[in-house]
Amino acid sequence: MELYSLNIQEARTAIDKGEITPAELTEAIFKRIETVEDIIQSFVTINKENALLQAKAAGNNRHPLSGIPLAIKDNMCTKGVRTTCSSKILENFVPPYEGTATSKLKEQGYILIGKTNLDEFAMGSSTENSAFVTTRNPWDITRVPGGSSGGSAAAVAADMCLAALGSDTGGSIRQPASFCGVVGLKPTYGRVSRYGLVAFASSLDQIGPITKTVKDSAILLNVISGHDACDSTSADLPVPDFTSVLGQDIKGMRLGVPKEYFIAGMDKEVEESVKQAISKLESLGAIPVEISLPHTEYAVAAYYILATSEASSNLARYDGVKYGLRVEGKDLIDMYMNTREAGFGAEVKRRIILGTYALSSGYYDAYYKKAQQVRTLIMNDFGKAFEKVDAIVTPTAPNPAFKVGEKADDPLQMYLADIFTISVNLAGAPGISIPCGFTSQNLPMGLQIIGKHFDEETILKISYAYEQSTDWHKRKPKL
Ligand code: GLN
Repeated sequence: MELYSLNIQEARTAIDKGEITPAELTEAIFKRIETVEDIIQSFVTINKENALLQAKAAGNNRHPLSGIPLAIKDNMCTKGVRTTCSSKILENFVPPYEGTATSKLKEQGYILIGKTNLDEFAMGSSTENSAFVTTRNPWDITRVPGGSSGGSAAAVAADMCLAALGSDTGGSIRQPASFCGVVGLKPTYGRVSRYGLVAFASSLDQIGPITKTVKDSAILLNVISGHDACDSTSADLPVPDFTSVLGQDIKGMRLGVPKEYFIAGMDKEVEESVKQAISKLESLGAIPVEISLPHTEYAVAAYYILATSEASSNLARYDGVKYGLRVEGKDLIDMYMNTREAGFGAEVKRRIILGTYALSSGYYDAYYKKAQQVRTLIMNDFGKAFEKVDAIVTPTAPNPAFKVGEKADDPLQMYLADIFTISVNLAGAPGISIPCGFTSQNLPMGLQIIGKHFDEETILKISYAYEQSTDWHKRKPKL
């Protein structure tokens, strides 16, 4: 087996036994990047020199991530390493500080391979909205990797890092994980500090792991979770050892299957593979229970009002004064306008305009306030469902990866495809996507498992039981 195809757990064992060194592993990763990155285009910035130095210097302190090469989505501030959000407005922005999630990785001695491509400011579902490169799906390079964490998911699937961090506001970890055949976990809102994550929609954004296996997901979550004085929305709750539940029996666990998530227009192969996954879980002793999440049909509309409203406010800071791009003008207002005109791409502008409209006087009650009320109804749907079940299982996305360009000119079609992931963010609940099969065209598909607030343990446990009884996660794209 090639060193670059190791997962975190395997690499840890090999390093601890003295079979390989972090330097050998990191060199193997950069060789791999040299071979496939030209085709896949996962990275905005490759951190080769620093990474090799770090790897050579890595002592073996046996922290789970010591000497482990990881990639970070380029919307997380890394001190001294350019952080662009795949936007021209931050093209040359080098953060003077480190965000909390990545500082926790640093404390363990991880190796930063590079910063991965995303839809500009994480707005999108295909990574086509990047101002810099179009990332390709390693399973079929004519297709998108999903988004917005498409660079991270593609890099993991193509073995250009052992695992990565992504961020998920409406599905941006789970949907690209499903399109690329890897594991993506969005933790409960508040589980992981958002300090240093460039804000898109602050009430929804959450950082999480994208990994080759469920075990690796638990290993990374262990490290990045926990309360942080720098993020008042991070929860002051104990962090369990998420790996300790893996391997436990799922007998008797009740799995909700929401009838609203099996809809007309959904891809037949996706529907079939998810149904088979549910039967598999049943054969492992779980009990499927039909449930209803009756406000699902309003989720996309509510999300695209709330997320754009928050974005319009969060992105006001890019004004050419404090940091990032500045394009001079005849006066201050002109400078603001020139800067924002040149710095933001079309989708970001669309969202700022939509959000500003939804928040403006006279429209606030009709749009923003209504959407907040719908959000409460959606949360209550989950609350009621979780009185009866331990977790909820659904498809991650209604379709496998689509073609590059296929939806690029049709924002509404792009938004509608977020239907299965968005409610989970609105509710603040944790959700994971794990590989559950391949289409006849050899494209991966994902099963989503949703948990109660702060019960990542249950969804990891179920995911692990499923993963161990299948071998989808062992398949690799031919590159
Ligand atoms: N696709 C959704 C959007 O475009 C979600 C993006 C995300 O989770 N960052 O907003």
